[in-house]
This record gives sequence, structure tokens and C-alpha cells, in this order.
Amino acid sequence: MRYAKLVECYEKLEKTTKKLEKRDILAGLYRDCEEDDLYRVTLLSMGAVFSAGGLELGIAEETIKRVIAKVTGAGEADVTKKFKETGDLGLAAEQLLKNKKQETLGRKDLTVEKVFENLRKLPEISGTGSQDKKILLIAELLSSASPKEARYIMRTVLGEMRVGVAAGLVRDALAKAFEQNSEDIEKCFDVIGDYGRVAQLAAEGKLHAEITVGMPVRVMLADRSPGLKEALDEFEKAAAEWKYDGFRIQGHKSGNKIKIFSRRMEDVTNQFPDIAKWARENIKAKECIIEGEALAVDKNLKPLPFQVLSRRIQRKYDIEKTVKEIPVQINLFELLYLNGVSYMNKPLSDRWNALKKIIKETDHFRLADHIEPKSYEEAEKFYKRSLAMQQEGVIVKNLDAHYQPGKRVGFWLKVKEILEPLDLVVVGGEWGEGKRARWIGSLILAARHGNEFVETGRMASGLTEQQMEDLTKKLKPLITEEHGKIVKVKPEIVVEVGYEEIQRSPKYPSGYALRFPRLLRIREKEDKGPKDANTVADIEKFFRMQGRKK
Ligand code: ATP
Repeated sequence: MRYAKLVECYEKLEKTTKKLEKRDILAGLYRDCEEDDLYRVTLLSMGAVFSAGGLELGIAEETIKRVIAKVTGAGEADVTKKFKETGDLGLAAEQLLKNKKQETLGRKDLTVEKVFENLRKLPEISGTGSQDKKILLIAELLSSASPKEARYIMRTVLGEMRVGVAAGLVRDALAKAFEQNSEDIEKCFDVIGDYGRVAQLAAEGKLHAEITVGMPVRVMLADRSPGLKEALDEFEKAAAEWKYDGFRIQGHKSGNKIKIFSRRMEDVTNQFPDIAKWARENIKAKECIIEGEALAVDKNLKPLPFQVLSRRIQRKYDIEKTVKEIPVQINLFELLYLNGVSYMNKPLSDRWNALKKIIKETDHFRLADHIEPKSYEEAEKFYKRSLAMQQEGVIVKNLDAHYQPGKRVGFWLKVKEILEPLDLVVVGGEWGEGKRARWIGSLILAARHGNEFVETGRMASGLTEQQMEDLTKKLKPLITEEHGKIVKVKPEIVVEVGYEEIQRSPKYPSGYALRFPRLLRIREKEDKGPKDANTVADIEKFFRMQGRKK
């Protein structure tokens, strides 16, 4: 398909705010696709070239500005000026390209395939000269692009399409295009986690939600409960498990081949060769998919704070050394698939019993602490023990419930001592003073609201100098505006924030402010990105809950 055709569609989508119209435009696009292009077009229609949670392009605005300057012949200052005028590097590229005397002669038509393939190469490039190689790949596209095409290529690279296409819309458009049921499309996505692949299956009329070893499944999530008693009362048959403060992993075993995925479905096998080895040695099954929480532990197996583990997740080189420095322990709690049989629709009691049978426990590869309490007192003792061991509390689980990928449906209820921390997106900050002048010391935080981020306050506490240094390094390339000491940044970094109380506040657009916010941790992008941040609706919910707690 010509890229221009997709661009026509983007334009139409951008012009309407009506959901049904958008759905029909997309459905038409998907229906008109050649089989070969459907995967690419589906992802590109969502402004992506990788499936949700997959690789990110990681191209900074500064790089894009250099590409635009290079291809249009404008100076970088002109590009910055246009960016300031339009607030959109896509529009800046479009307008500057229009100004350039077009040398259309010899220009080749861009195809969807070419755009998709060039962009997919970007995250793979590393090492010396990588920046130049990336610039070349993007510049190649831009040189062949019409001004309008340039607008959308730039936006795709930056991950800001501004055409208002979210997952729900793609689901409904695919349903309409291929005469399928929206619910079946969603179920298939929950298991497969890739709308491109779901589109192909829908077009073939082979929609299924079959779990496949080697393909990550979207993970099941927990709701919050105001207390242990309330949580236990929810279910006829309940289990309680420690809620470990670590990193969720999903392990896939097929013979000797092991793959490990993060909760965002990223392949993290390379970072955890030790877990892969234990899985090979201690799982008595030919094929299976299991889940657990990885914790960093000391020599005596005492759990270490999450920050320690985070160093392990970040490290992409010298893995063997880091494996020795930061040993981990896996606490397994789920079985999704075993020797050709999906366990997702079986009750938790069956999944847990089958998991117990196939795991040979060691100090580092073990089953999660799990009880099926006969009394409240027994559960309470268990809960207190988890807190004493520096874990977060317990998750109370419905033993009769199936595994529900990708959702919080109330089958798991977490009970924590502290008020629910919030994952918020950093949208700005303020440079410090005196000794701290080289760091962004105070952060402006926002919660998610649809595709937007709305401010919910500022935070200056809890940051160590090291964290200020790390954060400043991450935030600097994301700065979009500077006014005096205040900066605005692209919403990419997520931080976990603790607080004393949520208060209603007319001062912030979200309508809520946090009392005494403090930094608990800087999230790794493998763990949580802006799309996983808490929403304004979550804050509202926690606001009401804290009232109940008191
Ligand atoms: P957190 O901020 O603590 O990561 P969350 O809101 O991001 O919580 P939840 O859905 O609330 O995610 O809680 C589920 C997470 O708790 C899982 O993704 C997993 O990483 C972690 N966890 C720890 N212990 C368990 C357990 N025994 N069973 C299930 N999940 C567990």
C-alpha cells in the first residue's frame, strides 16, 4: 500500500472527533488492505510499529529536529522556531518541506512497508555512530516524503499521532471490517497482546484466544481492597499470598528453550540467564507458562529494596557480572499453560495445585508464600509476617476464579498497609538552587486522563542526590519548554509516589492534590510507561477509599 493512502486516512481521522466516524474510516482502511500490509497498517494506524509494550523507538525531539534541518535545508534554529509556533514537530516538518523547492523528479512513492521497516530498525541500532545511522534511516523516509507524509512520519517516530485512535477504537473497527464480534477481538488481544496479529486472525476468520508458548500473554492484575477482612469476605474460597515488592515475570518453557517476559510483555530473557537456568533445571514439564515475582536478595536470602533489583533490569551489558552481584529469587504464583493444555479457564485452585506439582523448589526458585486460611486470625498472622519481611502485604485471591489476562476484574484483591502509591508521569520540573542548580529537583506530576496527562501536583521530597542526578539525565533530552527555572518535559518518565493523603484541590487541573508527596521509586520503562500510569479516575477512587479507611 502507498503510504499516501494511509496518510489520507490519518487526515480524515484527525478531522473528526466522532467515534463512529473514526471507526468506519479505520474499518474501511483495514478492509482495503492487502494481506501483506494488514499487520503493518494496523499498528501504524495506532501510531506504532511495535505491539503494545514492545520495543520503543526512543528517538528524542532533538534528533528529529536535526533530521528535519538536514532534509529541508532549514537551519536548526528555524526548525525550533517552527516547532514553537506549531507545538508539533510533524507540522513543523510539513511546513518546512513545503517551503523547500520540491524536487519531485525522481522521488519514489513511499510505501507503508518502507516506512514500517525503516522505523522498526531504529531500536536495534546501538554502539558507536548509532545516532548518525538512526538519523540516516529517518532522513531517508523524509526525503522521499510529501509534506503531508512528513507530518505523520515525524509524529509516528515521536509516538504522538494526534489522530485519536486508541485500542478500543481499533477493536471496534476490526470487528466491523471483518464482521467479527468486538468481544472476541478483545479476548484474542488479551491473550496475544498484538493488534497487528489480531487483525490478521480476524481477516482470516480464525480469531482465537489460544495461548502459545513463546508468545507473551497480557498479565492479570489486582484490585485494591480497603482491608484484609473485606477482601476475605469477598470470596467463598480464598487464598492469600504475600505481595512481593519486585518485578513480575512470565516464563515460557518449551523443552530446553526458555523465554522470560516482563509485565509489559518485553522479552527480558537476556537480563535473567540465572532464572532461565533454574527454569530448565527445576520445572518438571516439557512445556509450560508460569508467572512469579523476582526479588533481589542478599546472601541470607533476605529481600533487598526494589531499587537494587532495578539495577539488574537496567543492565544490558556485563550481565554475568551483574547476575553475581545482584542475586534474585523467584516466587512463583501462576500456571497458565501445561503440556499442551491451557489452564487459563481453570480455577485458581487447579492452577496452583498443578504448579506445585511441577516445581522442584530451591532457595532461589520457589513457590510464593500461599495459604488457604481457615480463619481471619490465620490470615492476619500471615499478612503481618509479610509486612515484617519488608513485603507489601498480601493479595487475596478467589480460588474459584479463572485467569483473566490484562484486566483488573476483582478476582485478586491486594491488601496493603500504606495508602496506595500512585504511578504518575513527570510532565515538568524546576531546576534547583545553589549546590543543586545542575539538577531538576522538584517535579511536576500528572495523572492520565484518556490520551492526556493532567497535573496533580508537585513533588520535591524523597529524592536523594543520586536520584536527582539520574532523573535530570533522563529528563534533559525530553525538555520541550523552559521558562526561567521551570521546564516542561515530554511525558515519558513514570515515578511511583507515596503520600499522606489525597485532597481535593482546585489548584490543579485534575481536581486533586497529594499531601506530602514523596518519591518511592523511579520506574524503569520495562516496568511501567506513561500508558500504565494511574488515571484521574484512580485518584478519585483512592480518595473515596481513604475516607472509608479512616
Ligand atoms: P505495584 O505498584 O505494587 O506494582 P500494581 O498496581 O502495579 O502494584 P497490581 O495489579 O496492583 O499492580 O498488583 C499486581 C502486581 O503485584 C503484580 O503485577 C506482581 O508484580 C505483584 N505481585 C507480587 N506478589 C504477587 C502475588 N503473590 N501474586 C500476584 N502478583 C503479585
